[in-house]
Amino acid sequence: MAEAQPFLPYGRQQIDEDDIAAVARVLRSDWLTGGPAVDAFEAEFARIVAAPFAVACANGTAGLHLAALAARLGTGASAVVPAVTFLATANCLRYVGAEVVFADVDPASGLLTPETFEAALARARKQGAAPVKAVLPVHLGGQTCDLVAIAEIARREGAIVIEDACHAIGTSGVGPGAESEPVGACRNSAMAVFSFHPVKTVTSGEGGMVTTRDAELAARLRRLRSHGMTREADLFEIEAQGFGADGSPNPWYYEMAEMGFNYRLPDINCALGLSQLAKLPRFAERRRRLAARYDSLLARLAPVLRPVLRSQWCDPVLHLYAVLIDFAAAGISRGALMRALAARGIGSQVHYIPVHRQPYYRERYGTLALPGADAYYERCLSLPFFPAMTEADQDRVVEALDSILAGRA
Ligand SMILES: *Cc1c(COP(=O)(O)O)cnc(C)c1O
Repeated sequence: MAEAQPFLPYGRQQIDEDDIAAVARVLRSDWLTGGPAVDAFEAEFARIVAAPFAVACANGTAGLHLAALAARLGTGASAVVPAVTFLATANCLRYVGAEVVFADVDPASGLLTPETFEAALARARKQGAAPVKAVLPVHLGGQTCDLVAIAEIARREGAIVIEDACHAIGTSGVGPGAESEPVGACRNSAMAVFSFHPVKTVTSGEGGMVTTRDAELAARLRRLRSHGMTREADLFEIEAQGFGADGSPNPWYYEMAEMGFNYRLPDINCALGLSQLAKLPRFAERRRRLAARYDSLLARLAPVLRPVLRSQWCDPVLHLYAVLIDFAAAGISRGALMRALAARGIGSQVHYIPVHRQPYYRERYGTLALPGADAYYERCLSLPFFPAMTEADQDRVVEALDSILAGRA
């Protein structure tokens, strides 16, 4: 009976006993926040993505905000963001007063492309937008954009690249012909931002990470995540306050040179994140296997249903298993399909409503024509996809789609 089967969400965490034990150890220790688990989590993440610096923070959104601040984006600047992404990719720019230039995406993959980036730059120039100082490519679903080509265009424009890599933990390969490197290594970007929300590939409850190769950016990110303050004596600006008569730094003294936030990630969360990182190879393997199995099982539903186009230049650890459905040809609306799936205990989700269509942004920038984003949005649906799901779960999803789309529901 379908009713007796567990509900399958589109994504969920997998927490094992050793994850729980790792968190319990921190709870029994002296450090709930600001302690050694933070350093250990950052060091291990940096090692895995081959980046010299990794800065943990409260969540992916905080990471994007910190990256925008560290890049000195603000009033009088704008930045290019693909329309198909989560709200936070655009919102982080508004947090700092910068304007958003929405770019179109490839309708088959949902990704920002060199062409859609160029088109957004041309539109920004034509409309007299504030100078474009950054671009935030989003590795949607875990597949990378052609970062090499996007970085080349950005260099020409004098804009920096901040990767929204929230979906792409474990993915490698950043452009056609480029030497393969993990997402987060930042050889074609200034910074990459990750999220450890429970639906993402590894979780720390809530959590985020910003990676960079630039020591100065790393230092700024660390300062900004903790109120903009420093206790490092060699950075003190006001010597009369910072140092005693004998020239030694005053033990109580700290300085705030710029406005920052409390975006720290507690040791409790870092311990969970570190424990989860050890499972990344296993999670990745499982996601690869499930994706390949979906690909072959769903082939019979083509051309009405197809998986999103795969980037040829990356070896993705998919965060989402997204398909594109021709709802007109199928004779069913997306809402009706989602409801019919839910009635069978199967979750699904739409990633994403193009951000430029949100009332806030429409009011700010007017109605934009981004046909690739519209086409992607009209057809996309994310199916249940997480390491703990079984092949029987997957069969259930495929059979349900088969019967609903064949009109035999
Ligand atoms: C999850 C996500 C974020 C935000 O991460 P949080 O940790 O939830 O704040 C940003 N961008 C994208 C593309 C995401 O999927």
